[in-house]
Amino acid sequence: MPLASGHRRRWAFGALALASLGIAGQASAADIHNIRLWAAPDHVRLVFDMSSPASANVFTLNDPDRVVIDVDSSDLSFNVDDLDLQGSAIDAVRTGTREGGGLRVVLDVNRNVAPKSFTLPPNDQYSDRLVVDLDYPGASAVSDPIDPIEAMIRDQEITAQRAQTEAVVQGNVETPSQVAATVEAQPHPKRDIIIAVDAGHGGEDPGAIGPSGTREKDVVLEIARKLKNRIDGTPGFKAILTRDDDYYVGLRQRTLIARQQKADFFVSIHADAVRSSQPYGSSVYALSQGGATSESARWLAASENQADLIGGVDGSLSLDDKDEVLRGVLLDLTMTATMNDSLATGGQVLDQLGRINKLHKSGVEQAGFVVLKSPDIPSLLVETGFISNPKEEAQLRSSGHQAQLAQAIFAGIVAHFRQHPPPSSLLAWQRDQGRGGASNEYRVRAGDTLSTVANRNGITMQALKQANGLDSDILRVGQVLTLP
Ligand SMILES: [Zn+2]
Repeated sequence: MPLASGHRRRWAFGALALASLGIAGQASAADIHNIRLWAAPDHVRLVFDMSSPASANVFTLNDPDRVVIDVDSSDLSFNVDDLDLQGSAIDAVRTGTREGGGLRVVLDVNRNVAPKSFTLPPNDQYSDRLVVDLDYPGASAVSDPIDPIEAMIRDQEITAQRAQTEAVVQGNVETPSQVAATVEAQPHPKRDIIIAVDAGHGGEDPGAIGPSGTREKDVVLEIARKLKNRIDGTPGFKAILTRDDDYYVGLRQRTLIARQQKADFFVSIHADAVRSSQPYGSSVYALSQGGATSESARWLAASENQADLIGGVDGSLSLDDKDEVLRGVLLDLTMTATMNDSLATGGQVLDQLGRINKLHKSGVEQAGFVVLKSPDIPSLLVETGFISNPKEEAQLRSSGHQAQLAQAIFAGIVAHFRQHPPPSSLLAWQRDQGRGGASNEYRVRAGDTLSTVANRNGITMQALKQANGLDSDILRVGQVLTLP
């Protein structure tokens, strides 16, 4: 009878609200019965759980740096000394009563913060809430960001690929080649392939909860950390975590972090729950065509946000200098390529997961998850298992099983990148080192350009590029070219 009791509770809330409205001009004090704190690398969030809504005024004071939170007509029945401030910018919390019955909370902070606050109505889990976020201006959203030089190399590669896509769309593949083909072969940058690992949920969002109380946000963070360790321990790869502690990151923010960190791939880790305790097994999701199509439309329509979202961040997919039609074609091309990569990698990950766990579905499924909607970063969402199944819940808690899941996801992603290494990656360089023995192959030397290699071998640059699937005209010393 959960429905009936839910109704009863809602009616009770309604009656309370009416009763307090009835006392005109004499607002009853809200009781703040709990304060929760979530520390992230770029902000700290404080959530005040209260018996009824109350408005607040939040402002900063200097010398020393403080944040003042004045909550109208409220009492505090929570000991602020119980708050764990570790990892946050807050050194101490003090409270006092204001004239007229309000509550004042003063936070001593050890860095420059930008506060913002909002209220939330009650939901299934919580009562009325006041949320105060203290953002740290200039701070990175991740605790282990990528190296600026790696970011620069990646930007160059993205720019070259984009130029190639544009040339194909505009039908003038030859033109940019003539100009760029005289570029001397560059030392191979041997860059790391960046994998954004996204642990679902976090902070006040626990995700699904198992029959024994296991919280999805906790197990997926453990799996994500194990996956990061596995990736970072592999030459040629680096992982970044969209969150690496217990705090919430917005869905759009997760894809934004992946883009800022120049991720080659994004994988979001979750654990399913359904009403029945029966279903079990792992599933892998890519973005659905429907989701992609409507997303494409959404990106194109919101032209103001678009500059910000697509181009404003790093210019990797800057479309605001193109006309409408070309923009649409470019975006479709990019999204189709991204989705093909996602599906191919998803197949590899599913294959690996099938070796250590039952699969819920034998193929990669597709759905319109927001975190999968980066138009230019191949993305997967892995439901590692059903936390609602008691047996699988126990497995998900086990460190050994978590490590196996992380290893399977890792192996699937790596298998994909070994087959399709980005041109400036260490993996591409390694692949080229392993070749170069056959008579129709040529290893690029310092001073070579695309046109000198083509001329020497009596072929056109276009034929040389086609035979090698070159996206750009940039040659790397040590790169092995197939001579058609
Ligand atoms: Zn989830």
